[in-house]
Amino acid sequence: MAYSLEFLVTPVTAAKIKFRKGIIVESGDAVYCAHCKTKQPVDYKNGDLCISCGKQAEPIFACFWCSASGPGKYCRQCGAEFVPTGELALAILLRRDGLPKDEIPVRLKKLSASEKEQLWGRIHRG
Ligand SMILES: [Zn+2]
Ligand SMILES: [Zn+2]
Repeated sequence: MAYSLEFLVTPVTAAKIKFRKGIIVESGDAVYCAHCKTKQPVDYKNGDLCISCGKQAEPIFACFWCSASGPGKYCRQCGAEFVPTGELALAILLRRDGLPKDEIPVRLKKLSASEKEQLWGRIHRG
């Protein structure tokens, strides 16, 4: 004869989300994991792995200016601000047009969809 132990089994709550107690400091520079969207601790440094999923928290960008690559917002080699990977080709085109390094990310953000279309047209025509 066997007693059922089923009633003793606790449901697995591994996925339970734990909230940190205390004051959460909101800063404009907060970094969120690119994979699981977890907010990284305040002592987070560029290149650190995500506290939640263990992957590289920030995507690696290629620099439009010097072709170096790395995590974070700025290129460690030349200090240029990274642009979204999908717009890297546009940034390189603007560089060829002779725009200054600091001006290119600013210009990209200001471009309208149709202006970007025109630039893509130039890229595709070669
Ligand atoms: Zn993560
Ligand atoms: Zn660079």
